[in-house]
Amino acid sequence: MSSPTPATPARADGRAPDQIRPLRFQNHIAPYATGSTLVEWGHTRVICGVTVEESVPRWMKEQKVEGGWLTAEYSMLPYSTLTRKPRDISKGKLDGRSSEIQRLIGRSMRAAVDLNKLGARTICVDCDVLQADGGTRTAAITGAFVALSLAMQKLIAAGKLKENPITHGVAAVSVGIVGGAALLDLCYTEDVAAAVDMNLVMNADGEFIEVQGTGEEATFTEAQLAALLALGKVGIKQLLAAQKQALG
Ligand code: UDP
Repeated sequence: MSSPTPATPARADGRAPDQIRPLRFQNHIAPYATGSTLVEWGHTRVICGVTVEESVPRWMKEQKVEGGWLTAEYSMLPYSTLTRKPRDISKGKLDGRSSEIQRLIGRSMRAAVDLNKLGARTICVDCDVLQADGGTRTAAITGAFVALSLAMQKLIAAGKLKENPITHGVAAVSVGIVGGAALLDLCYTEDVAAAVDMNLVMNADGEFIEVQGTGEEATFTEAQLAALLALGKVGIKQLLAAQKQALG
């Protein structure tokens, strides 16, 4: 007699292993930004604002690099976490985690645009976490793409751009192994309990932009990696559809 298949442990919020948390975009949250959205993804909430400067960084001029540039900043507001997180400015330096995340956001968004079509402009993407419950970097990337698209629509409407420089939809999601089960879109309690934690950034062509995967005092097999990637792809599809809907 075969032994019964062990049941998948229940998730804290009752989700199926391959189910993402409810996702909502509130566009134009920051009216003075060229494009903005508040992404609410479960209990994680991130304000994503995009501004456009009519100049390029000095290194581009010096190296005679054509086109524009895109840069990103990420920060967690002091009251975004259960215990107050002091602003980086009060410590006099950006913390390593914020620095790593903002570089990831910048790379992810640069993969969404053709910088040559942007002209001699710099896009600044600012992601500020209002509430953190796991997956703030994936929410920042997914929201930043919406804010960036809104900003590009505005430049086109203003006659500053003839052609949309956005080439691909880009979204990000976390996956992980918790209690032996592969789960999509980890909330904070799952993230803390995860033996393997992975962040995937992908585009609408199903291509990978970045894969950040780590075992926390644990290792993972190639088969588990494949299962996590497959789960991530399911999530990315849903995120890209939600972004499309938010952009009308
Ligand atoms: N977190 C926190 N304070 C910090 C850093 C992280 O409370 O200084 C929490 C927060 O809920 C965050 C989660 O830990 O979403 C996971 O952090 P991680 O560094 O894995 O990044 P994220 O999952 O947010 O992209």
